[in-house]
Amino acid sequence: MEITGSIPSGGVCTPCLDERQNSVVTTGKTKTRIHCADDSLAGAVSQRACVYSGARVVLNPITDAAHLVHGPVGCASYTWDIRGSLSSGSGMYRNSFSTDLHERDIIFGGEKRLAACIDEIVRRYHPPAVFVYATCVVGIIGDDIIRVCREASERHGIDVIPVESSGFISGNKIIGYRAAAHALIRLITPKEGEVIPKTRRVNLLGEYNLGGEKWLIERYLREIGVEMNVACTGDSTVAALKQIPGGYLNLVQCTGSMHYVAKLLEEQYGTPSVDVNFFGAYNTAESLRAIARLYDEPGMTERAERLIERETTRIEPEIRYYRQKLEGKRAAIYVGGAFKALAIIRQLRELGVDIVFCGTQTGKQEDYEQIHGMLKPGSVIVDDANPAEIERFLVEKRVDIMAGGVKERVLAHKLGVGFVDHNHDRKECLAGYDGAVTFAREVFFTCCSPVWDSLRRQPDWEVADGT
Ligand code: SF4
Repeated sequence: MEITGSIPSGGVCTPCLDERQNSVVTTGKTKTRIHCADDSLAGAVSQRACVYSGARVVLNPITDAAHLVHGPVGCASYTWDIRGSLSSGSGMYRNSFSTDLHERDIIFGGEKRLAACIDEIVRRYHPPAVFVYATCVVGIIGDDIIRVCREASERHGIDVIPVESSGFISGNKIIGYRAAAHALIRLITPKEGEVIPKTRRVNLLGEYNLGGEKWLIERYLREIGVEMNVACTGDSTVAALKQIPGGYLNLVQCTGSMHYVAKLLEEQYGTPSVDVNFFGAYNTAESLRAIARLYDEPGMTERAERLIERETTRIEPEIRYYRQKLEGKRAAIYVGGAFKALAIIRQLRELGVDIVFCGTQTGKQEDYEQIHGMLKPGSVIVDDANPAEIERFLVEKRVDIMAGGVKERVLAHKLGVGFVDHNHDRKECLAGYDGAVTFAREVFFTCCSPVWDSLRRQPDWEVADGT
């Protein structure tokens, strides 16, 4: 085990479980490979959500579709709020439908109830598509949701698409992304004889329009001369998604949820893809440059450079101000996907903040190698962490500010650590140049708040960690 340091008084921290030791790496030491992309360890209380939740966060932003959760009503508590995507049109996706299975359905089967629910949703709301999510109990009792959806689709003449996302089929949320990918491909596959014409427009995969981020990126693209076909799935509609095969290029932002979709689109429609990242000024600039290079159209590179120059100059004074205040602070990052972790590392470094602990729920080996190369020696990298590990490293690494999601917020706050939300349930736009300023401002206000001077329990911060 490469983690050193004692357990502080007060009992807030525990050592890693033996089986988890290969999922933790300290930079600068001999071990560089991390155990990742695997099921969570039973009993370790992973921070990951379940497979069904993984599928739901990918598909729920389709604004005019109905999302029907086939299972006990508790699973449907994952609602629009877990992916606060904004819509420019329909608000259908903000409803949460459930078949609300009870004991009788578990014993005798829930297929009739499912068919009746689909019929009622179609009769009352007329959605162009219904996604039916399988939950744990449905997988266990063996309801044939594929047949029920096919029959409902024939009955109503719309897409009724099963999402095979029973929570227990894997201990890795990424399997839920995979289930969503198959449902998406099912939705967008042209009907027999239907031809989707190729265009010069881009598809933006893995952009969920949190705080209007899709709209911001769309404005940047338009300014350099690129039109967006559809974002997948932020502020999308069923009709718009069906035009995906006509895209000229797939821009992949959230790689964890969308690399698999991009691969399927390349195989089926020959559409190439490129990874982009619109979080932070540096990433935004590099993404615009990469898109301009791929289009290779006269004037596009110049337009991209003009935009980058103008926006960088505009935000620079404010970023410089926050950097002066934040220089030397110590940060922890724990987020779902590696693309976001890499973006936050860059942004925090631009603000003069040291990243001493970084982890993700679904990172792959190559992602962790990149993270490893960006952190100073002595920093801790963790795959699929649990609350005990996060608490331990927040204390051992004497963290001032943590960037993460809703489940990490409480861990940071109860230890007196500032917290900045970078999750899919946030409401702030953090993309692009304005988003970079918003992020810096949030880090500053949270990190430098005088409240921490009163709340921090000094003995916990004197733990020797060898740094
Ligand atoms: S019961 Fe299963 S599908 Fe429902 S929320 Fe829990 S783990 Fe997910």
